[in-house]
Amino acid sequence: MSKVLIIGAGGVGRVTTFKCAQHPEVFTGIMLASRTKSKCDVIAADVREQLGYQAIETAAVDAENVPELVALIRAYQPELVIHVALPYQDLTIMDACLETGVHYLDTANYEPKEEAKFEYSWQWAYQDRFKEKGILAILGCGFDPGVTSIFTARAAKHFFDEIHYLDIVDANAGDHGKAFATNFNPEINIREITQKGRYWENGQWIETEPHEIMKVLNYPDIGPKNSYLIYHEELESLVKNFPTIKRARFWMTFGDEYLTHLRVIQNIGMAGIEPVMHKGMEIIPLEFLKSVLPDPGDLGENYTGETSIGCRVRGIKDGQEKTYYIWNNCSHEAAFKETGAQGVSYTTGVPAMTGAMMLLTGKWGGTGVKNVEEFDPDPFLDVLGKHGLEWHEAENVDLEL
Ligand code: NDP
Repeated sequence: MSKVLIIGAGGVGRVTTFKCAQHPEVFTGIMLASRTKSKCDVIAADVREQLGYQAIETAAVDAENVPELVALIRAYQPELVIHVALPYQDLTIMDACLETGVHYLDTANYEPKEEAKFEYSWQWAYQDRFKEKGILAILGCGFDPGVTSIFTARAAKHFFDEIHYLDIVDANAGDHGKAFATNFNPEINIREITQKGRYWENGQWIETEPHEIMKVLNYPDIGPKNSYLIYHEELESLVKNFPTIKRARFWMTFGDEYLTHLRVIQNIGMAGIEPVMHKGMEIIPLEFLKSVLPDPGDLGENYTGETSIGCRVRGIKDGQEKTYYIWNNCSHEAAFKETGAQGVSYTTGVPAMTGAMMLLTGKWGGTGVKNVEEFDPDPFLDVLGKHGLEWHEAENVDLEL
């Protein structure tokens, strides 16, 4: 009997719930809870109707309120909480898991609301308390972070004695037909991509201006795309867990139109996170902007094209330098057909469910706080393709980097 509590009913929550419900042999019950219960009810109705999965309940919860979370966990008694709401709630949900002795899994590291800054220190600080309680926190189990970290673990386990250079490459060659939209929560997304770039080289972080470094990279089945160096959270844990890495960078594709909109949004102050007065009320510009931008959950219907995310690795095996590329391509259309959500939600929700399955079936275990690359990558990657995210690999190819 493995019941799970899924928190968050956005695009990622929808996919995670669908994928768990496709495996009733593991997920014997699902409680889907979020701030707005009606959104959970819509997903639950779809899961019942389309998959015939009836063991699903819904609830309203404020995931920033620990006593509310504790009451819900005690009433439902899940084995695991899958947190796919927002990064602001990581710590309150971890607190509730500690109080109730329930395992925890998320897809994004903690970020304080008042500062656009994300790092693992806050969550790593729970290490001893999770160990003492005998429970496990699995951090960053989406695609990036998540599968990219597990791809790196596979490279280290099977293909290299030492990884020296790691480039994570993330292309979205999809077209949703909107002038400007973000593929996941606009507030979190804009905070992430407007900050300074950062990469790891020779034992230190090098900072760049936002989008200062660009290279044209070729992606499988997609072709050439302008790819910009940005900071991404898995770099922090990967350089810690694979200390032979001399340089680690993250590249993401952006179209010119997207960057122009982003520049305007920033220049006119709409990306601000400090409160401003509007008609006698304090509002936060970025929160207001979120309310007028398309809901990422609604992009799926006319979304065409693919995402392609992978790791390009250079290092040493048996004294010889070699290269290795491992990647997944995901079709927005296929994702929508299966779950009613677009590819970015799909590539996050499938790994979240797969990580949960690893824990509940005993393939991943232990106690404390762990990033996903600390687990055995093999059982996870053995089933990822069957769950909808087929992956490919090639050795000794031109990495372009
Ligand atoms: P959405 O904005 O679509 O959904 C977020 C959900 O969280 C909404 O249902 C929202 O409720 C709910 N929520 C927000 N605040 C609270 C709260 N205080 N209490 C309870 N519920 C709350 O986001 P996405 O589905 O696109 O993304 C979800 C998460 O996935 C984010 O953390 C994002 O960073 C992460 N992500 C990770 C990726 C990866 O590869 N690792 C890639 C993409 C996303 P309401 O509807 O009421 O607003």
